[in-house]
Amino acid sequence: MTKKERYKKVIDWFIENAESAETELHYQNDYQLLVAVILSAQCTDKRVNMVTPALFEVFPVPEVMAASTPEAVFEYIKSCSYPNNKAKNLVGMAKKLLSDFGGEVPNDIDSLLTIPGVGRKTANVMLAVAFNKPAMPVDTHVFRVANRIGLTDNSKTPLETERELVKYIPSELLSKAHHWLILHGRYICVARRPKCEICGLSPWCKYYEKHFG
Ligand code: SF4
Repeated sequence: MTKKERYKKVIDWFIENAESAETELHYQNDYQLLVAVILSAQCTDKRVNMVTPALFEVFPVPEVMAASTPEAVFEYIKSCSYPNNKAKNLVGMAKKLLSDFGGEVPNDIDSLLTIPGVGRKTANVMLAVAFNKPAMPVDTHVFRVANRIGLTDNSKTPLETERELVKYIPSELLSKAHHWLILHGRYICVARRPKCEICGLSPWCKYYEKHFG
């Protein structure tokens, strides 16, 4: 099976079978999404959703966050992982939005990458989710699932995976595909002992073919 054929089968399967997969983070605007995505590094969406209502109430806009201190922000996010760093980044992020981007979240990757706390994955989430642009954020789930299925040729880095997925997945489906792969990795193609016996992708999966074919 060629790679193109494998992509087609996998995409068709997800279109038929995936649940509607909107992001699970709760937010109401681009600024709030950026805050939530920064908080979600090494932290579950559930945990992030527990702290953001109070956080957004006290720091509803970048102006208020920028005028605050990391110590004050820390109090609201201390149950997340790495709260000290994240508090510092959130204040730095808000200051940057005000100083360089008129208080708005920019919609291009180069600008996004200049913001404290924003790495390539976060930038790509913003592009895909907030701006509906052709981007593929690669987290550990996307990286693992794409490699196992054979959507990538045993990719060694998230950037390699990102390039490969963006090349083969139609741009209008990238944002959806991001969620498909994350959810599949979270619930079926889990890191230890993937649940191949109940996985509908097994007919086109390289990992399955190698281990059970
Ligand atoms: Fe993952 Fe197994 Fe499904 Fe392949 S068949 S995608 S390895 S769960």
